Amino acid sequence: TYVVTEACIKCKYTDCVEVCPVDCFYEGENMLVIHPDECIDCGVCEPECPADAIKPDTEPGLEKWLEVNRDYAKTW
Ligand code: SF4
Repeated sequence: TYVVTEACIKCKYTDCVEVCPVDCFYEGENMLVIHPDECIDCGVCEPECPADAIKPDTEPGLEKWLEVNRDYAKTW
């Protein structure tokens, strides 16, 4: 799955949402998140993010952000 990270906070762009083929972006309190079970790992959103906030969860150190994405995606 891909994960939305810190740089997204208060970002107003929604380029990622527009390109996602499975509509798995959700709105968190102050950032967008990706539902980890719905993301099909296509990678299309990553280069579209102007804040460079979207990372593959294979990058080290993203466990906390993966949790944040899962939590916010659940509430909608
Ligand atoms: Fe959507 Fe693909 Fe990005 Fe996953 S990797 S959030 S499926 S655009």
